[in-house]
Amino acid sequence: MVEIVSEVKRIGEYVIIFTRVFDSGQMVTDADVAIVVEDVEERIFLPRSSTTHGFSVYTINEKNVIENLSGVYTLIFKSLFKKFKVTIFARVRDKTTKKVLLFENGRTREEKDPLDVIRTLKVFLGFNVNIDKIIYVDKRLEKLVNKNTRKAILQDLIKPRKKINSIEDVFVGIIDSMRYGSQEWVIEDPSVIKWLENLYKDNLGKETRIGGQAGIIANLIAILGGYPTVYSPVLSKEQAGLLHKNVFSLCPTRKPVTECADAKESKVNWVFEFNRTDELFNIRSNQNGRFIAGSQMEEYRPEWPDINNIDIDAIILAGLHLLKKKYRDGTTAEKIIKETIEWIDGAAKRDIPTHLELTCMEDEWLREKIVEILYHVDSVGMNKDELRQIAELDEEKIDLPDALSIIKYMKKIAKKFGLKRVHVHTLGYYINLYKDSGWASPEKIKKAMLFASDLAAAAAFSGSIEKMEDLEIADSISLSKTGLKEQEKLEKEIGMENGVARVGDYTIIFLPTKVVGHPKTTVGLGDTISGSMFVVECGYRYM
Ligand code: ADP
Repeated sequence: MVEIVSEVKRIGEYVIIFTRVFDSGQMVTDADVAIVVEDVEERIFLPRSSTTHGFSVYTINEKNVIENLSGVYTLIFKSLFKKFKVTIFARVRDKTTKKVLLFENGRTREEKDPLDVIRTLKVFLGFNVNIDKIIYVDKRLEKLVNKNTRKAILQDLIKPRKKINSIEDVFVGIIDSMRYGSQEWVIEDPSVIKWLENLYKDNLGKETRIGGQAGIIANLIAILGGYPTVYSPVLSKEQAGLLHKNVFSLCPTRKPVTECADAKESKVNWVFEFNRTDELFNIRSNQNGRFIAGSQMEEYRPEWPDINNIDIDAIILAGLHLLKKKYRDGTTAEKIIKETIEWIDGAAKRDIPTHLELTCMEDEWLREKIVEILYHVDSVGMNKDELRQIAELDEEKIDLPDALSIIKYMKKIAKKFGLKRVHVHTLGYYINLYKDSGWASPEKIKKAMLFASDLAAAAAFSGSIEKMEDLEIADSISLSKTGLKEQEKLEKEIGMENGVARVGDYTIIFLPTKVVGHPKTTVGLGDTISGSMFVVECGYRYM
């Protein structure tokens, strides 16, 4: 890894910038270094200067050239700017690294870009890490059932049980999700698992990949160059094998995830992916989405590691929707939620920001219990359907036709639970709401939101992000028309300016986002958006 270490000094009317470059900890004495100085107030650029002509540079005069003094790259220039931005580029082995510094009142501080934050912030994620076995939804599925079963399926669709005790229930789940939006049901009858395993092998299986919000976000952070720590109550070799090598776990000390994989059985989800033109038994889906049939395991419940013994800067929690009401040893979901809350309160005492990532929760009883956690975390992330589920705990059938109605309920939720931050993503725009100024500045938040939008667009376009270069495609994807229209409406309705508005005690930040016309996949996009945005904002909190 190439690192730039710099120092800016002002002596009278001169400014001196000392830069050292390190490659895997070793000082590089022959790097190409270029520096751009920008006056923040006047927006005047000093001509870029560099050590060599490798960069496309133009220098004003001899004095404005960077001197390489045995590996200390030094630039001296005359300037009376009080506040300026210095961007330093260093090229080593044909790779260019960048660092931005802000100089103000005689002091410098670093301006990190979102990737710098992702790479340096110590993020802890728990607890759902599972294996997703993706299965195609197509006509071949219809051939697996006879006429009578088909009748039973159509009958059950009238009032779905939302739990899986038979093969019919799997079909009911798929069709119900095609009609009303993505859902996740638990498999209560183990014989269904055998049937699904065979189905997967019989050519209907598309791919196996990491699933679960904690697993998906941990992998994303690692791919982008970070070193997250993930906690999963069940971690088999197969689960760990699907995680990036830079993901760590706790067993009980922090180790690479493969060293912590000790479970024999894996937690598996069967994911039926469909798009808006798919049909099953002549019922047409009107959206892209998925139905998840999830295996249930006694051991798949969190026992959180000692919060005072982990070195972390941010926490992302998810997976509580998978809890069973009661376990064989008498443990209950209520007890686990209580312990989770105590753990979160421990994090709050250490001033570690906590975020709960929601998912659609079919079981109303469990939903009410999980919602208790919202009184304790700092931040929550969700999509429109999840917002509806939480809002409908207090109100009958709510309507969310546009951004303004979403803001109304985000505000209600923030107020009820005392949340510092609420994030909602929709197809076309993201809305973030903040209680007070204790979070990052609106500019920084917008940067985090833009970064998340780029990641989501790139992932939708290519199916997944496997390397940094996969992000480049985002530049060519255009903004959603719906998002832009909603932006205009909010400007009129609540006086929003540059995506920022004040609504009562809250600050709203709105971003129209990039949308891919024909996405390769949408699985995990919400997690990608929420997770990356929260991490970057945490990194920006004190800057
Ligand atoms: P998941 O549960 O898979 O994480 P969600 O339903 O929570 O997914 O979130 C999906 C989000 O992904 C949407 O709210 C939207 O912001 C984004 N998204 C979906 N489809 C696209 C697309 N084609 N292009 C860009 N972003 C998309």
